[in-house]
Amino acid sequence: MEVLTMNGTAVHAEAAAGKGRRYRLDRPELLAPAGNLEKLKFAVHYGADAVYIGGQSYGLRSNADNFSFEEMREGVEFAARYGAKVFVATNIYAHQEDLPGIADYLKQLEAAGIAAIITADPAIVETAMAHAPGLEVHLSTQQSTMNWQAVKFWKEVGLPRVVLARETSMEEIREIKSKVDLELEVFIHGAMCSSVSGRCVLSNHFTDRDSNRGGCCQSCRWKYDLHQDHGPVGDPGDHMFTMGSKDLCMIRHIPDLIEAGVDSFKIEGRMKSIHYVASVVGAYRQAIDAYMADPEGYALRPAWEEEIGKAANRPLNTGFFYSTPGASEHIYEPEEKPAPYDFAAIVREYDPKTGIAVVEQRSPFRPNTEVEFVGPGGRSFKQVAGPLADMDGKAVDVARHPLQLLRIRTSEPVAPLDMMRKKIGSA
Ligand code: SF4
Repeated sequence: MEVLTMNGTAVHAEAAAGKGRRYRLDRPELLAPAGNLEKLKFAVHYGADAVYIGGQSYGLRSNADNFSFEEMREGVEFAARYGAKVFVATNIYAHQEDLPGIADYLKQLEAAGIAAIITADPAIVETAMAHAPGLEVHLSTQQSTMNWQAVKFWKEVGLPRVVLARETSMEEIREIKSKVDLELEVFIHGAMCSSVSGRCVLSNHFTDRDSNRGGCCQSCRWKYDLHQDHGPVGDPGDHMFTMGSKDLCMIRHIPDLIEAGVDSFKIEGRMKSIHYVASVVGAYRQAIDAYMADPEGYALRPAWEEEIGKAANRPLNTGFFYSTPGASEHIYEPEEKPAPYDFAAIVREYDPKTGIAVVEQRSPFRPNTEVEFVGPGGRSFKQVAGPLADMDGKAVDVARHPLQLLRIRTSEPVAPLDMMRKKIGSA
């Protein structure tokens, strides 16, 4: 058996009969969303073992930027430098008219170095196995798999991995793992469908955008008013509510997930920001590594939860893992608070001799703003931004131009792809 290393951890590569690459990890995989090439680079840099992306066709996030084949090749090459892999979501439920061209599309994914597709439709499963044998086929959560007999069925079909439905409990995961030897991928963080995932037609009904063909407009998060018979109940706005669910967060339950035998920890959110992806991936990376290094001495660190909270501000819960969410697990109040921190800039260069960094602006900031630099592995420090200069050395009073390059002195060393963020309202 060939042994490779991935982010310092042993990886056993097993060639499944006629299937091309096959990896079995000695630790759970951290699988992150990447809505575009830049997000892919941040996800991998902050510790993802694998990322999932959308191509131009057959995926469920038609509003995400989605990748061309050329961008996929670049993403695969970048990820490979870290020992990470790239998966492509091809998880629509296909109508007949969607299928012509699917074999060519899958062959091109294979040629681009994509490790696996995530798919739900048996027509795509069968086509991939027949025409692109170098691609692993992972069964999408869209198939709503929640019992061991179903997992066994997909194993017998020849699939190496099943992404369980978000509605699967921890007890059910343990039972599935004890009965079937197949990789299980589980959502551990991010938005939930208020309906059973993959079974919702709210978006189709309200906007004619099919959630099972990539068009969901998140109708469950809209604001609704209460009507009865022919009119509103009370004054308009009296009973305003949403149908959205709290977001899933399992950072407090890493030992349970690992001990239940989950092979891949999946973070939701291909539409989310770089700041969100990097912060969430960074926090889970640290938690998983801490547990794997010392299961007995493992303890949750408040800094991991704080890091997640700095990039997003939706209420969190543990989804279906420990009990079926009840009335208190929905978001009734249509109040979306912004994240407490704003992503201000990306570090592009750093000169250790001068202590000067070149940063690329992502939201306005000024000298004298309190900023925080954050890197992979929980490395972070705060400072007050001193004088700013453009690349010609001219003083800048407000970094107001998107993507503008600026020089700034940092109080501690930084590295390319570190993030600089500021408290909301501090500039
Ligand atoms: S409308 Fe909401 S519940 Fe329905 S598919 Fe979209 S996100 Fe899920």
